[in-house]
Amino acid sequence: MNDIESRLLAIKEQITSHARQAGRSPNEIKLLAVSKTKPVEAIQEAYQAGQRLFGESYVQEAITKIQQLNNSSDYAGIEWHFIGPLQSNKTKLVAEHFDWVHSIDREKTAQRLNEQRPANLPALNVCIQVNISGERTKSGITADEVFGLAGIISEFPHLKLRGLMTIAENTDDLDVVRDNFLHMQELFNRLKNQYPSVDTLSMGMTDDMSVAISSGSTMVRIGTAIFGSREYK
Ligand SMILES: *Cc1c(COP(=O)(O)O)cnc(C)c1O
Repeated sequence: MNDIESRLLAIKEQITSHARQAGRSPNEIKLLAVSKTKPVEAIQEAYQAGQRLFGESYVQEAITKIQQLNNSSDYAGIEWHFIGPLQSNKTKLVAEHFDWVHSIDREKTAQRLNEQRPANLPALNVCIQVNISGERTKSGITADEVFGLAGIISEFPHLKLRGLMTIAENTDDLDVVRDNFLHMQELFNRLKNQYPSVDTLSMGMTDDMSVAISSGSTMVRIGTAIFGSREYK
């Protein structure tokens, strides 16, 4: 077994045990493997170990990898999730190559993605990113703004509103993180009651996965624990 395969296995076991501890079914929680900054070979290894959902944060880097893998029938069935900050001038590439975007935090981005989504592809799955901790350095809208933006997105024919995404406050204090996540869960439940397409609460990373699962996460975004630490050039 290679490193990535054994780490994936370990993460899945952790998801299962955290879910059980929280009285949830492990099937309610999807694993998004965050492969940003990692070479295409790392994605191939994870794919061979059965992983199909991959998350990327940098448009150009991601498109290069997507094109390499789409050219090979050996890597069919990958679902590509864009999770990074999205500038207006990059929306077209994202609309053309991704299946999901987790980081919608303004009407303009949603509108452009809706216009640029190719007609032969299914609607682009989107989550609204919420800055639940209110830190100034974080992307995302405030909790108060969620329903306004959700209403706009729900009218766009080429987008499908799937839910909410957040990154918890940057702190070692897991009680603060839990507060953030429980607030997200409450928002998510209200949104779900209003929009039947909503089924995804994207939260939890390598260091706060267990808290996210006990707070209702339905998709954890895990990079480091699968692929090792990242080096930024
Ligand atoms: C990089 C990244 C992750 C993965 O973080 P790890 O701590 O490596 O698991 C998850 N979500 C977002 C939005 C990211 O940018």
